[in-house]
Amino acid sequence: MASIKDMRFVIHDVFDTAAHFRSLLGDDSLDRAFIDALLDEAHRYTDGELKPLNRSGDEEGCHLENGVMRTPKGFRDAYRKYIAGGWAGLLGPTEYGGQDLPPTFGIMIEELMCGANMAFSMYPGLSRGAVHALSVHGSAEQKAQFLPKLLTGEWTGTMCLTEPHAGSDVGLARTKASLQTDGSYAVTGTKIFISAGEHDLSDNIIHLVLARLDGAPAGTRGISMFVVPKIDLDGKRNTVICSAIGEKMGIHGNATCVLNFDAARGYLVGEENHGMKYMFTMTNSARIGVGQQGVSLAQAAFEASSEYAHQRLQMRSLSGPKSPDKPADPIVVHPDVRRMLLNQRCFIEGGRALAFYAGRCVDTQLFATDPEVKQQAQELLDFLTPIVKGFLTEGGFQSVNDAVQIFGGHGFIRESGVEQFVHDSRITLIYEGTTQIQGLDLLARKVLMTQGKGLTHLIAEMQ
Ligand SMILES: Cc1cc2nc3c(=O)[nH]c(=O)nc-3n(C[C@H](O)[C@H](O)[C@H](O)COP(=O)(O)OP(=O)(O)OC[C@H]3O[C@@H](n4cnc5c(N)ncnc54)[C@H](O)[C@@H]3O)c2cc1C
Repeated sequence: MASIKDMRFVIHDVFDTAAHFRSLLGDDSLDRAFIDALLDEAHRYTDGELKPLNRSGDEEGCHLENGVMRTPKGFRDAYRKYIAGGWAGLLGPTEYGGQDLPPTFGIMIEELMCGANMAFSMYPGLSRGAVHALSVHGSAEQKAQFLPKLLTGEWTGTMCLTEPHAGSDVGLARTKASLQTDGSYAVTGTKIFISAGEHDLSDNIIHLVLARLDGAPAGTRGISMFVVPKIDLDGKRNTVICSAIGEKMGIHGNATCVLNFDAARGYLVGEENHGMKYMFTMTNSARIGVGQQGVSLAQAAFEASSEYAHQRLQMRSLSGPKSPDKPADPIVVHPDVRRMLLNQRCFIEGGRALAFYAGRCVDTQLFATDPEVKQQAQELLDFLTPIVKGFLTEGGFQSVNDAVQIFGGHGFIRESGVEQFVHDSRITLIYEGTTQIQGLDLLARKVLMTQGKGLTHLIAEMQ
């Protein structure tokens, strides 16, 4: 597949990733051979198991039957193989069963997973976010309780922010949490649009929920984070139920749920009223992941449209026949078809490199020992995150639309498969903060509030 070759170009030739790991971790075991072997293995899994379920999963969708969410045919088996392959623990801490590989590996694998089957890739994607947030902000007890099974993949995770009246403005959230005599909290409220909020892939689902303690200040300053397991630690079914599934435009194989928390037992993560800050740990990495979804779908659509442009025969080249033995030339000879293919390609190659560069900043910010280097990587990453999310999703959507245009009327017909890339990629411009919210974040928080620190680092590096 073309993307593997192009991915290797970015990983090894544009960025010498083995050298990056060596200098950052003082460890040369993550060398080129290791990276290539991992990529090949991931490609075997995604191409063999996930890609064949992309279209069927889209057509079948998820179904809520008597409180049980059924994922499309084949998803359970593919998830079982995902667990068996050890993919769930790739990035998690070793002391809880993970392999503790640097986050750049997540960027590499995610492109393959999402390009093969975006709806499926969101189930493990959300778990990775939950692992990350709990690893950084959870107590020692919570890490021991939740991380091992999240890292085997036996349990999956979610992030529960959105409520019917609180979307971009999370500070309007009304979900309540009341302290109980045993130190746990009763969480009550309704969350909507919760991806992977209920499904039949794992034994348990660990919800990370934003809620407001009794008497908490209004707005984002009064929001705390709670872990609310579907099956509680004592093995009993917790009082969180999925009351409805969102019937939506795309990613039909991923369950988008309304979750009702009815005094569900939850456990406070970190300190009271710091929930927004903790959730940002998850949201920031998820924003890079969503930006990458834009590139992954663009790559998948480009492969289809490029192949089609070489096969579809319509009209003759302006400079004379290029396939005189055939009734017409392949459409790839026409300048505007070439323009669309080249637009796709430029966006994908630049976008892939940008996402990868952001991944390297995450590695550096996590593992660098020099505090100044660490700080600089953090500032650069903060600046890049809304760009990765905003630009790569908007560009990705444009790119998959170009693919449909190259297919002409056949692109509009479901059977061609390219129409799915359009309806799947549309959500990337909305969730994890709309493009407008990324714009506000970039200008207000990442440029004005920091007096342009991240921007200055980027310009210095460009020069
Ligand atoms: C399929 C799907 C999956 C999702 N998964 C999850 C999940 O797992 N967990 C979760 O918590 N949420 C999830 N969401 C929710 C998602 O994050 C929100 O839909 C998104 O943040 C936008 O909120 P909203 O839909 O309420 O739109 P609103 O906030 O009502 O925005 C409506 C419009 O107003 C614009 N707008 C709002 N404020 C401003 C402003 N200040 N300046 C300029 N424009 C503005 C927005 O950009 C948008 O165009 C999901 C949503 C969908 C559809």
